[in-house]
Amino acid sequence: MFDGVLYRQKFGAAMGSPVSPIMANLYLEDLEAKAIATAPIEAKPKLWKRYVDDILDVLKQDQVKTMNDHLNQIDKTESIKFTYEPEDKGKIPFLDVLIIRKEDGSVKLCIYRKSTHTDQYLKFQSHHPIQHKLGVVRTLMDRCQRIVTEEEDRKEEEKHIRAALKCCGYPEWSFNTVKKQLQKGPNKNKQEKPKEEKCKGSVLLPYVQGVSECIHRILLKFKIASAFKPMNTLRQTLVHPKDKREIGDNSEIVYQIPCKTCDKSYIGETGRKFKVRMKEHQDEANEASTKHFTRAQRKASESTQNESAIMEHIATKNHTISWEKSKILAREPHITRRWIRESIHITLVTRKLLLCIRKSASLSSFALFCSKWPSFPASYSGVLNECTLFGLFQSLIRYL
Ligand SMILES: [Zn+2]
Repeated sequence: MFDGVLYRQKFGAAMGSPVSPIMANLYLEDLEAKAIATAPIEAKPKLWKRYVDDILDVLKQDQVKTMNDHLNQIDKTESIKFTYEPEDKGKIPFLDVLIIRKEDGSVKLCIYRKSTHTDQYLKFQSHHPIQHKLGVVRTLMDRCQRIVTEEEDRKEEEKHIRAALKCCGYPEWSFNTVKKQLQKGPNKNKQEKPKEEKCKGSVLLPYVQGVSECIHRILLKFKIASAFKPMNTLRQTLVHPKDKREIGDNSEIVYQIPCKTCDKSYIGETGRKFKVRMKEHQDEANEASTKHFTRAQRKASESTQNESAIMEHIATKNHTISWEKSKILAREPHITRRWIRESIHITLVTRKLLLCIRKSASLSSFALFCSKWPSFPASYSGVLNECTLFGLFQSLIRYL
């Protein structure tokens, strides 16, 4: 959807879709198999290595053009163009590896960076878990150790990494910590494994400096592993490639419908379009406003948990619903997660004493959250008793 017009893709795979790389890879795999099988005998490659769209190919110098022309006529859709880059002064890059031909004819490997590479990595001051920052150091150091073949180049590369990361604010201790971890190597992982197995489950939570570290320690006591993900990134704030939809056209949402007369509001979730669900609520409401309860009937219905809470509210209290002020609180395609978010919003409203009509006590919404999450009681029963997760659950409300 762009500028109010809905476009349909006619050819190729959608950018950013999770199936696209798989499809592209399958297509290219088929294409390369055909290409190699039908290549002219004198142009058959000695070596053929491909990663997605990057190919490393060893063949005779005078056959390069023949092979390239051959490759270009394999794809019948003519949408894939092969280009080539011959070795330059005994050097050729492939992915992030620079292959260098030595004087004696053997090859050595170095790290390859494009001339436009800026050496910008996650800044140390960024609001990210420390593990993520150490991960940057570890990835670069580990890549250097795995790829670079000669000791001298390795030292040079390490110098480069240190200089680049120091520019991004990384302190000396981060290098030393990672170096120690890498020296321990696979042994450390082996020791860690049984520890992980003991964990009952794992949770992914938003990262908030200072709070997350405490939550991590608390959860560990209950043998729950936790991972943290940064919130409010610049990308989330700035990048909105698609047009905003009309509020009623949104589906898979948690929504809120407030009452005009009092400060209560209704919170619900739906997988369908908001306008469809809203219409149902409005029809119910119209029906309810025509009903009149006696005092005894009103009392009786207040004590039961009625499914259509809006209708109940109108019928018993004779209040008006503020349809135009209804809004979407969250979008979540995954149904269990949507239930959880619904429960969290109900709790949030309850805590503010705006009081949700359907579920009144915060603990009951937490119970609802647990009951809708089938694997929950088994893996977190220990925590439930301690009410620790309930506290956590409440602390998370702020970030939704
Ligand atoms: Zn009301």
